[in-house]
Parts: sequence; structure tokens; C-alpha cells
Amino acid sequence: MTIEEVRARYQAERAKRIRPDGNAQFRPLAGDFADFDTDPWVEPGFTRDPVVDETTAVIVGGGFAGMLTAINLTRHGIRDFVIVEKAGDFGGTWYWNRYPGCMCDVESYTYLPLLEETGYMPTEKYASAAEIFGYCQRLGEHFDLYPHALFQTEIDSAEWDDDKDRWQITTSRGDRLSSRFFVTAGGILHKAKLPGIPGIQDFNGHMFHTARWDYSITGGSPTEPMDKLGDLRVGVIGTGATAVQLVPQLARAAKDVYVFQRTPSAVGVRNNGPTDEAWFQRLEPGWQEARLQNFTKAVTGQHPEPNLVDDGWTEFMWHDTQQQAADEAEVRELEQLDLQTMAALRARVDREVHDPETAEKLKPWYGKHCKRLCFHDDYLAAFNEANVHLVDTDGRGVDHVTQTGVVFDGVEYPVDLLIFASGFEVTTPLEQRLGFDPSGRDGMTLGERWADGAHTLHGVLSAEFPNLLIIGTIQAGFGVNFVHFLSESARHVAWIVATAEEQGIRSIEATVEAEEEWLHVLYGVAMGLRAYSSTCTPGYYNSEGNPGPGGARNLVYPGSLTHYVGYLERWRNAGDMSGARVER
Ligand code: NDP
Repeated sequence: MTIEEVRARYQAERAKRIRPDGNAQFRPLAGDFADFDTDPWVEPGFTRDPVVDETTAVIVGGGFAGMLTAINLTRHGIRDFVIVEKAGDFGGTWYWNRYPGCMCDVESYTYLPLLEETGYMPTEKYASAAEIFGYCQRLGEHFDLYPHALFQTEIDSAEWDDDKDRWQITTSRGDRLSSRFFVTAGGILHKAKLPGIPGIQDFNGHMFHTARWDYSITGGSPTEPMDKLGDLRVGVIGTGATAVQLVPQLARAAKDVYVFQRTPSAVGVRNNGPTDEAWFQRLEPGWQEARLQNFTKAVTGQHPEPNLVDDGWTEFMWHDTQQQAADEAEVRELEQLDLQTMAALRARVDREVHDPETAEKLKPWYGKHCKRLCFHDDYLAAFNEANVHLVDTDGRGVDHVTQTGVVFDGVEYPVDLLIFASGFEVTTPLEQRLGFDPSGRDGMTLGERWADGAHTLHGVLSAEFPNLLIIGTIQAGFGVNFVHFLSESARHVAWIVATAEEQGIRSIEATVEAEEEWLHVLYGVAMGLRAYSSTCTPGYYNSEGNPGPGGARNLVYPGSLTHYVGYLERWRNAGDMSGARVER
């Protein structure tokens, strides 16, 4: 195919999928769907006495971001903090996501933080969800975080008290917490969502979201095969990174599997294997930080030599093809490199899938930065199994759900169990995802101040919200190895808290001028990205192709994570809190 033909195909695929309702097409796990959000991993009926406490910091979220913030605080000698977590344990995304086949697609030696400190050797190059969740618990034990945690607890309200220079926080368990600093580390894949398909409530069979897996129906466990599906027909809605890991497991266990596809994932080779213990033992002190930096460089077009991780990610992301090109020749070169990667991924489908018609439907037609790439060695081949049926909806999505099945194009596919692998809210307003709306100076809420989109310095500080420290992707970094981003953010946030404490700073927030300057920086780097994004099929990377009113301001730092981290480091090293309003 010529470049022009591929471009036209990309546009045609995008056009099929663009919907005016954007993010509004999805349904939150609330209201009629509140049952979908029940925590399957705790005993019902938990109660405890309310806590009344005054602390230096309250951290919302006990995933990697919250834990790493807490660990960094303890390194600064700050131990009076509370971690408020909705779940029954640490782990965040790895607490919730325990679906069969769940694993991390980023190499464990770079993904699992602080391996040198904890002395832990991951068992495999790509760790299973169960191993990662276990590691989170290990971090909690090792760094003595459990006594600080209020589990199964949600924030009800958080208000800045200008007289006392403190955050006053109430929770769903009646706690009253007063803290100097308030850190939101709520995660980006924290709020599961359902597709807005009519009729979901009418379905009479079992159903759940992948992030709330119900093993009582499927049998098995996160570490044992499912053994109750032999007579059941299972429908899966969605074909993103989650479904890619899940479908091969269902193929082995269920009578029939119907995979309802709207947009196919691009799926490269995984090539997992056990850790070479001798190699691991030989690693020199400081190896993990070096490997972390090396991987991030390798997947953001910075060509490190040697390429230490050398896997599918580093192969496909070696060239950053969404960068701002210097001239027409470079535009064409970058585009050509991107097309080659995607053509290689489509060729893999032909090699793996026997039926040419099915193979055609499984081919991704978009650029490599449009959706998260997947890596799996059994997903495509699963469609060769007689019990696995691909129902491709050609970009439309299924029409509706009945009492007994799923309908597409006038055909009903009867299923006994319906599984929603339909993803998470990523680009909805921050306060919606947090589940509470912090109120800052003079009672103004974050939702009100950010009504036209986010206002931040580095994505961390915001004017009118003193001592609020935000860890998230809005106006901040991102990365293939998301934990690398979280580690840097946690380091930054803890530094701000510790420095404020040392220097007798009562409150710190961004200035409005600094917020606008930061936005200017983001826009400058975003030029190449915007052009690229306009070629992409919708998804959470581009706010479903419909950025909405706040979209222009709610971008992630569009350059490499290394560069974003550079901004944070230079700001800390300068030590003058420039761009911040500081009151002593
Ligand atoms: P995604 O948002 O990536 O995928 C949701 C899927 O649901 C898409 O295929 C989407 O189609 C489909 N969908 C939505 N609405 C409908 C509809 N009406 N009809 C049919 N299909 C529909 O969610 P995932 O849970 O798969 O992944 C989320 C993120 O979690 C990943 O991008 C990744 O960052 C992370 N993850 C990471 C893993 C790791 O190994 N590190 C493993 C698993 C997940 P469409 O594309 O057309 O919108």
C-alpha cells in the first residue's frame, strides 16, 4: 500500500468510530450499576471506630503512587501521615485487577519499584498480577506502611481551612482528619466504566467488569485455572489490553467465547520467561535506576546504547514518531517508520490466525501511538480455536443487550456470562474520578476552578488550593512504564512537603502566571502530538476523539518522561519555589 492509501484507511477507520458523545457514551459504575463496583476481595460488613487525627499529610490512594509518596516522606523523616484507601489493601490497580491472565506488559525489573531496597527478585520477566499485588503488600510491610492505612475508606469531603492552614478531611467511616498537606494519588485506571449499551440492566445471566472479577462464577483463582465455565457461553465486550490477556484464558475454560470487537488491538510478541537468577544476582548496586532510565529512553526515541531491556516495547517505540518534525522530509520519515511498525504488527496477525477473514478483522489500522500497544503470545492464536468466535462490529460497537445475550446487526449471540473489558475513566474530570471535589481558598472547588480545564504548575500544584499536591497525568507526565512516572512524582511531592516543613512554609500553591507559563510549555511540545492525534481512532489516549470543553488544557506532558522529569528536577534544584505562592 502507498502512504496515501494507508492514510486514507486510517481516516476511514477513525471516521467510523468517532461519536459526538465522546466520553459520555460510557456509564460509571454508579446508580443502577453501583453493584458492579462492589469490592469482591473483602468480607462484607467491615466496621471500625472513626479516627480523629492531626497529621502532616493525608494521602488518598494506596497504589504505587500513594505508597511511593509515603515511602519518600519517611525517607525525609516524616512519619505522621495517613493513607486513605477505598480497597481492602495496598496495590491500587493490582488490588482490583485479578482477572485470569492479568499481568504487566512492562518488564518486572523496571516496573516493580525499589527492588534493590526490598531485596526481591521477580520470578519472571513479565510478572503476573498476583505477584505484583504480593509485591505491593511486601512494600507495605517492608516500609511499615500498614499502621498508616485506613482501608475500605473513601473521602467524603476535603476543605482547606485558611485560618489554620490545614486541610480538614472527612471520610465514609466518620473519620475527621486534619492535615497540613493533602496528596491526591487516586490513580488513572481507578474508575471502571461500562459501555453505554442499551439493555445491560435487563440481562438475566451473570455479568461483571474485569476489574471486579467474580471467581465464584468462573471457578479458579488468580493463580489457578477457571473450572466452572465448561458448560457456559461467555461474552466479552472490549478488545483492549485487558481482553488481550483474558481471552486466551477463557478460550481454555469456557464452552464458547464470543469476543465483541469495536477496534482491534495491535498485538506484538511477548516472549516471557523465568528470571535468570545468576544474572539477577550479578547486577551491581544502582542497577535498577539505570535500567529504569534506559528503558524510558528506549521507548521515547532517545536511543540508549546498549538497549538494556530489548523487548517488544523498545523495538516498536524506538523511534518517537509523534514528535515535532523539523521539515517535510522528516515528517515523511517519521510517518514511514510508524507505518512499518504497524504493518509488521498486521503481518503478525496473518501468521497467527488461520482463517483469512478473521485475520483481516483483527488487524489494527491506526498509528502506533494511538492506543496502548499490547504484547501477547496466545491472544491472536486463540481465534483459531473452534470455541472462540470473533464478532467484529466494524467500529460501531454492539447494538444492545437482551435478557439472554448480545445483539449486533440483527443477530443475537446468546451468552450465560457477560464480561465487560471496557476499560476505565481516564480523561473525565479529576474530581469525578477522585469521587470528591476538594475545596480550596474561599470554598472554591477544584471542579469550579478547573471548569475550563486544568490549571497547574507541573500538574502538581494549583492556585487557590494551598498544600494540595496532585499526582496524576493531567498536565503531568505519562510513560510506557507508568511506575517510573509515579516514582518521580512521589519524589517531587515528598520533597515539597519536607522542604515546606523545614523552611517553616505554611502554605504553597502555584501562581496563576506560572500555571499559564506551564500551559505554554505544554502547548509548545504538543504541536507534533496534535497533528498525530488527529489521525487516531478514538480511545482514552485522545479523550475518545472529542476533547470536550476542558480538553485543550487537560493534556499530559506530550514530550518524553525524561524531559518532564527534567522540569521537576530543575525546579527542585533551584530551591527557590519559583512559580509558587509561598506563605511563611
Ligand atoms: P481499554 O480502554 O483499553 O479498552 C476498552 C475496550 O472496550 C476497547 O476495546 C473498546 O473499544 C471497547 N468498548 C468500549 N465500548 C464498547 C462498545 N460499546 N462496544 C464494544 N466494545 C466497546 O481498557 P482495558 O481495560 O483493556 O485497558 C485499559 C488500560 O489498562 C490499558 O490501556 C493499559 O494502560 C492498562 N492495562 C495495562 C496492562 C499491562 O500489562 N500493563 C494490562 C491491561 C491493561 P474501542 O477501542 O473501539 O474504544
